[in-house]
Amino acid sequence: MDCRNDPRFQGIEPFESKIWLSSPTMHGEEQKWVNEAIETNWVSTVGRNIDEIERMTAELIGRKYAVALSSGTAALHLAIKLVGEKLYGQPKVGHGTLEGKKVFASDMTFDATDNPIAYEGGEAVFIDTEYDTWNMDPIALEKAFELYPEVRLIVVAHLYGTPGKMDEIKAIADRHGALIVEDAAESFLGTYKGIQTGCFGEVSIFSWNGNKLITGSSGGMLLTDELEWANKARKWSTQSREDAAWYQHEELGYNYRMSNIIAGIVRGQLPYAKEHKAQKKAIYERYKKGLRDLPVRMNPYREESEPNFWLSCLMIDSHAMCQQVRGEKESLYVTESGKSCPTEILAALTFFHVEGRPIWKPMHMQPIYQMNAFVTKNGNGRAQSNAYIASNRIDVGADIFHRGVCLPSDNKMTEEQQDVVIDIIHRCFE
Ligand SMILES: *Cc1c(COP(=O)(O)O)cnc(C)c1O
Repeated sequence: MDCRNDPRFQGIEPFESKIWLSSPTMHGEEQKWVNEAIETNWVSTVGRNIDEIERMTAELIGRKYAVALSSGTAALHLAIKLVGEKLYGQPKVGHGTLEGKKVFASDMTFDATDNPIAYEGGEAVFIDTEYDTWNMDPIALEKAFELYPEVRLIVVAHLYGTPGKMDEIKAIADRHGALIVEDAAESFLGTYKGIQTGCFGEVSIFSWNGNKLITGSSGGMLLTDELEWANKARKWSTQSREDAAWYQHEELGYNYRMSNIIAGIVRGQLPYAKEHKAQKKAIYERYKKGLRDLPVRMNPYREESEPNFWLSCLMIDSHAMCQQVRGEKESLYVTESGKSCPTEILAALTFFHVEGRPIWKPMHMQPIYQMNAFVTKNGNGRAQSNAYIASNRIDVGADIFHRGVCLPSDNKMTEEQQDVVIDIIHRCFE
């Protein structure tokens, strides 16, 4: 989109340096802990930084044990494997813990949430999203247990830092004897009824990836209250070495442990997590105020929860959507006065050197998962024709994907810069 020749955008200049969706923010303290690791020669997967961030994270969140790993994805894999083994026993080498098993999974999330189910040979059944928090819909989850009463594992994510309806989900899980793995990768310091996310799974995880609330440049954390599980995760993550003089192996191992250098960055970041959250909240509030005269709403949350406001998003009211068609990799739209759509807003932001992003495309719409079941609050989502879904908004995930946009939420964005972003969005609707 070339906004130079579009009269709606006259008078706005592209930013000289790009405004990011969510980029790392270093404070200087990280350097100290990284240097200490190098100066003392503790640069491998053992060291003070690792011990400290495990202690600090467990204490901050209110869980007994935290295990530092190489990524949030690695943490999810081990979390799912731990619970899978508890439910179904240890598989033969070369077989997954979830082979032949169905697992209920968040549908509107990043694919890292659900891929580890497949790593372990399981089959994700995607549960539709609800409008109140953009997370797993408890009504659809209950429906899923009617269809698949044998399921014993639920993988739940908190999208964009907003906690899901955990009491409802937990009650359903308990009623059906199912266990929860919680993906809190995006919601570090988000709380639900005063309790930190990261406390709601049998095993839970955080990510310290570069775009999250705080970062180690990469890295992740596994949380549990079971000492045995924490020990197992540590062992599996370091190639499952047995306590012997030589390399002795009784179980399959992984190279998933965090390095003490990465842990040094995390250690320097942890004291700033609250500050980042406050900055993200201010960004969300400014969008909410700045966009309130437009036919859009912000990504919602309920009173009982306090998101970490990691990403601010908007969703356009149906009546204010111009025509937009998305294929697998490209999209088209037709400009219309008084209306807009995610594709147009994202094109305009890109022109002005601002990073936005479509809503995470739901897993049931991904080609890789097209054979997996999908359950809406009305039952089998695959059985409902597309036209039916579109006209009745039965497929909530598809609807939010169609009408939603992730807005730049970088904590280094100034108020003046954000005002320009808000102005650009207004002009899309002219
Ligand atoms: C980032 C993210 C992950 C993966 O974390 P990595 O550290 O990048 O492996 C998992 N789930 C969600 C919801 C995420 O946003």
